[in-house]
Amino acid sequence: MNFSDSEIVASVMTSHDFGITTDPRDADVIFLNTCSIRDHAEQRILNRLRELQHLRRKKSGLLIGVLGCMAERLKSDLLEDKDLGMRIDMVVGPDAYRQLPQLLMDAETGQKAINVLLSADETYADISPVRYAAGGVSAFISIMRGCENFCAYCVVPYTRGKERSRDPESILLEARQLVEGGYREVTLLGQNVNSYRWPGNGNGRHIAFSDLIGLVAAIDPRLRVRFATSHPKDMSDQLLYQMAKYPNICKAIHLPLQSGSSSVLQRMNRKYSRQDYLDRIRAIRDILPGCAISTDLIAGYCGETEAEHRETLSIMEEVGFDFAFMFKYSERPDTLAAKKYPDDVPDQVKTRRLTEIIHKQQALSLKSNQQDVGSLQEVLAEGPSKRSESHMMGRTSHNKVVVFPGNGILAGDYAGVEITGCSSATLKGALRQKGLQQ
Ligand code: SAH
Ligand code: SF4
Repeated sequence: MNFSDSEIVASVMTSHDFGITTDPRDADVIFLNTCSIRDHAEQRILNRLRELQHLRRKKSGLLIGVLGCMAERLKSDLLEDKDLGMRIDMVVGPDAYRQLPQLLMDAETGQKAINVLLSADETYADISPVRYAAGGVSAFISIMRGCENFCAYCVVPYTRGKERSRDPESILLEARQLVEGGYREVTLLGQNVNSYRWPGNGNGRHIAFSDLIGLVAAIDPRLRVRFATSHPKDMSDQLLYQMAKYPNICKAIHLPLQSGSSSVLQRMNRKYSRQDYLDRIRAIRDILPGCAISTDLIAGYCGETEAEHRETLSIMEEVGFDFAFMFKYSERPDTLAAKKYPDDVPDQVKTRRLTEIIHKQQALSLKSNQQDVGSLQEVLAEGPSKRSESHMMGRTSHNKVVVFPGNGILAGDYAGVEITGCSSATLKGALRQKGLQQ
């Protein structure tokens, strides 16, 4: 989400005659787009800000701005922060990026440059993002902003404001432009894409996410479509049927579980139980056999007992996740959890539980990859592999990374790759056919 927002920021700035540099020493102004999701993320930003202070000593007039969630969370405290031991010139929340050029002028004249107003309708729909991604194969399209789910542990509803959907026409236009520009994959982004909703024009029928993804997929069969993230409480069967209908909608679903224990899920305010989640998994398996399923898990949430933790381990086994992002619970100030439940699982217990979850997932990922060995996979090549120039790196529809000998395959090409080996993180393959496999 931040990557995508930074592309919007770059677009706002370049349309006001600013240029982009990749070398901080060349910059007259540096923006840090920040994340507040866990304390660790914020600590890293603070360290980076301290490092940038050295640059400021060398270059008078250098301006530094903090953008995004941390700006929104800490507001003017950031401008005045004494602990930080440095000056921050601009503080700009996620809904105020159109004001950046004006705020920059304010900062240049030594005025306080802060805008942390959240908006009920800003979607940056008309802003065509400047693409940063190397290779020009895969791009993000933001389809909605904000979140109103108020999961008890989560800071997002406070830093990103009300949920709002973006005009579908502007989304389709952006996708068409990407195809024309040679892109072969888009990821539709939102905190909870399944509550995407756009009022119908007069006929009374609104556009839901399952309609939108069909419209994007219909643009071009060579364009792969992915999406993130689905909340288990409202991932609809209609979406699964759309995925089944279009071969170019990738067969991979990221469905954050957080915990396998219904009592923990209730304290998290996730609005589904262990059984509800398993029912959604059943629907995926029925409608989309073989679809990859990945998840997010939190270890050591408030009041988590050993038995509740073991329920997370057992559901992981039951579902057989292909991949997971795994975190230690990090209390965020002012969230429902911070107000209501003590952060009472000792840190070493959180660490041990997280390690158990990671080990379990490594075994599951390895098993999932081993099942692919011997199969022919359609791979979209993204570019040379990190280890060797003669090898290409690409992804399967299941979002697994495959490394294979290039043999004339270029970034953006499709290839039929036979999987010959694997680790828990990567597949290895051999090129069998060029071009789309379907
Ligand atoms: N909107 C997405 C998640 C966005 S945040 C969804 O609901 O699925 C990405 C992940 O960060 C979450 O799924 C959760 O696993 C993790 N996360 C969020 N807040 C956290 C916290 N306070 N401590 C630890 N992990 C957290
Ligand atoms: Fe946070 Fe829950 Fe919203 Fe995801 S759905 S962003 S976890 S509040």
